[in-house]
Amino acid sequence: MPFFIQKLAVLGVGLIGGSVALALKQAGAVGEVVGYGRSQANLDHAYSLGVIDHIATNLAVAVQGADAILLAVPVGQMAALMQAIAPHLGADTLVTDAGSTKQDVAALMAQHLPAHLANCVPAHPIAGAEASGASAARADLFVGKNVVLTPLSATSPAAVARVSALWQACGAKLSNMTAVEHDAVFAAVSHLPHLLAYALVDMLAQRDNAETLFKFAASGFRDFTRIAASSPEMWRDIALANRNALLAELAHYQTHLQHLQAALSAADGAALEAVFRRAQAARAPWLAA
Ligand code: NAD
Repeated sequence: MPFFIQKLAVLGVGLIGGSVALALKQAGAVGEVVGYGRSQANLDHAYSLGVIDHIATNLAVAVQGADAILLAVPVGQMAALMQAIAPHLGADTLVTDAGSTKQDVAALMAQHLPAHLANCVPAHPIAGAEASGASAARADLFVGKNVVLTPLSATSPAAVARVSALWQACGAKLSNMTAVEHDAVFAAVSHLPHLLAYALVDMLAQRDNAETLFKFAASGFRDFTRIAASSPEMWRDIALANRNALLAELAHYQTHLQHLQAALSAADGAALEAVFRRAQAARAPWLAA
């Protein structure tokens, strides 16, 4: 029988939650999508766009009778939602999330959903954009993109299979990692770059001549800072949740910058060029892949 969810509850109908809803609808893999959120305007918008079929005014109603629940809120909001849904979960209700950090989500599931862990599957779609809210949702957001699953030791193979089928119906590919491995990898390739982009834009914006700087900033600046347009709340939560791994990556980066600074101070063109050449050679195959 093809994969089918009769009722999906999306808690947080933004870019990610809304895109999952649209993708599952397009695939014919969901009967009804119930949305719950904290912004009525966003929920109304999601409803009018056909992202969700019903707006739930409280969490009990949202999750009652749901086959699957997707937590798609900033990771700092997950604890309160898990606590609130715990008494209303059916025995077979699948609980998954889309949070960008995984050790914190796993710990929160263990703390707030202890009787339900067999059906809990932490997940992170490696797809997104700097835009937020239901209006940014797209049915094709996950096509060909990776989704990393970090199952708990208590997660049942059947629950992993159901969440895998959910993401496959959205067009995604699946990878498995431990939560520790996940958070270390994404501190390096996602969380650090966001911190750097925010820092650069903020640094320049505080200058007396910011207007002139931004007037002449061109495509290099745009490419480097695109992700500084992302949701500050979401990135505050990610940075705090993955603080230790992010601090470690920041320290590595500072060491690397000091090396470049020393080369620049010494007018050591060979040392500068060696770094630039290594980076250029490393980036090309990554981009091609
Ligand atoms: P978003 O801002 O577009 O959507 C989040 C939604 O959650 C908003 O509609 C907001 O109103 C709602 N919300 C916030 N707090 C809530 C609460 N307490 N109760 C109910 N609703 C609440 O954000 P997004 O980009 O969809 O991100 C959602 C999750 O997915 C985050 O955990 C984020 O880390 C993760 N994620 C984001 C991306 C990305 O590129 N944007 C990629 C992968 C994973």
